[in-house]
Amino acid sequence: MRFVIAGGGTAGWMTAAALSRFAPPGTQIELVESEDIGTVGVGEATIPQIHLFNAALGLDEAEFLRETNGSFKLGIEFAGWQREGESYMHAFGSIGRPVGLLPFQHYWLRAKQLGFAKPLQRYSLNELAARTLRMQRGRRTPQSPEMAYAYHFDAGLYAAYLRRFAEARGVVRTEGLIRSVERDGQSGDIAALVLDGERRISGDFFIDCTGFRGLLIEGALETGFDDWTHYLPCDRAVAVPCSGGGDFTPYTRSTARACGWQWRIPLQHRIGNGHVYASAMISDDEAAATLLANLDGQPLADPRPLRFTTGMRRKHWNRNCLAIGLAAGFMEPLESTSIHLVQSAISRFLSMLPAGKSDPAMIDHFNTQARFEWTRIRDFIVLHYWANQRVGEPFWDAMRAMELPETLQRKLAQWQATGFIHREHEELFTEVGWFQVLAGQGVEASAYNPIADALSEDDLRDLLGRTEAELVEEVRMMPRHIEVLDQIVRGVAA
Ligand code: FAD
Repeated sequence: MRFVIAGGGTAGWMTAAALSRFAPPGTQIELVESEDIGTVGVGEATIPQIHLFNAALGLDEAEFLRETNGSFKLGIEFAGWQREGESYMHAFGSIGRPVGLLPFQHYWLRAKQLGFAKPLQRYSLNELAARTLRMQRGRRTPQSPEMAYAYHFDAGLYAAYLRRFAEARGVVRTEGLIRSVERDGQSGDIAALVLDGERRISGDFFIDCTGFRGLLIEGALETGFDDWTHYLPCDRAVAVPCSGGGDFTPYTRSTARACGWQWRIPLQHRIGNGHVYASAMISDDEAAATLLANLDGQPLADPRPLRFTTGMRRKHWNRNCLAIGLAAGFMEPLESTSIHLVQSAISRFLSMLPAGKSDPAMIDHFNTQARFEWTRIRDFIVLHYWANQRVGEPFWDAMRAMELPETLQRKLAQWQATGFIHREHEELFTEVGWFQVLAGQGVEASAYNPIADALSEDDLRDLLGRTEAELVEEVRMMPRHIEVLDQIVRGVAA
């Protein structure tokens, strides 16, 4: 097989690296990119699944952190999403501890009804650690709970790092501007990319990583796009890095603004910032001014504008072409899922790698799974917006009034009536993630699983009290995030 990857952003080089590592011997891989066009490359926050990708490639964590100016991430703080002045966290890892069959949320809901449940953060190892700027890789002692973590990193540097990895394993990089895409007259499949200077690059299978342009999947194959702007109306962002300032937090901060939200992502050498907003509600100049007025340090570049439409291609795999990354669609970065979606598309594709001509049943299967994955993440993001209590602000009032996707309506109704969270199949976010956002945004459950009543009230108090005390003690023994990072990057970590 001869694979041609169009585009060398984070998606292109992640794909090239994975194919070079896993494709059978003899596979040819060529990547075409144009320095004149450049990349989006503002992706900086990830989720813990990134470990799987890096581990599959065999990357060394210390080297990876050095190469990408990375830092650790224990979760995302949502400031002002419920109301101005309030904040909660979607922290990675578990909350509390299950008792028997029942997850902790039911015990917490019962304790809440009885009036003695503390805020969720008191039962989250990651949030307690994050708020005190501490962390621990893995377990502190064999008996300690395990700390889940992800990374913040410079996605442009990550792409450059993976480029070196891929080229060392035989991937051929071609610099050039793709002028057109040639299709086979009989089958309709893509036959070749035509570059400037009339160079022609043919292949058996094409991977479209050309970013928002979607040159192959949309430009050539006219696959179609499902626009989700009615659920997620933010359609622009302005991004600017600034010098370090404030705490070096081991978490991403997302702060609600009048017509969108602002991210803050601390890296080793700078803080990444951006303002995601709805252009129907605020001008570009006002959005940039809001961002610049809310930085923790000095801006290190001019604010960079970005435009997007939230939604996904109707098919990610169409004929002999697979779209990955921004070419496949756009999910706003509220839960840091885009790089994960690149990774999961790659691993799904590798598990269905065509031996020759693409099989239609396999293509359908891939697309069904991709749609499921994308729509469930979309629902989770919509929840953050819909469940706001920022009454009197036009953007947020409109978000509360929107008609929700049916899949989300069902999930919410179930939570509100029973305290149960239904995680369907392999949807990305677990019950613990949904629980934190539902509770953090003030979406009340009116009941809990009655099995939680099997504990006496005293035992329930004891369970919550002990859980909290153990976690507080764990965190007290942890080093500071900055020390852990410093030791690893300097190569003196245990
Ligand atoms: P791009 O970076 O746009 O790369 C496209 C490539 O195609 C480039 O190499 C370009 O040269 C090439 N190309 C295009 N046209 C041609 C042509 N005609 N000829 C030759 N080459 C061509 N993700 C996260 O996981 N976490 C985040 O925190 C996060 N934040 C984000 C914030 C914003 C505002 C945006 C817009 C995105 C964010 N993302 C985030 C998404 C993340 O940046 C992207 O998913 C990721 O960088 C992948 O981009 P890409 O490689 O698909 O596209």
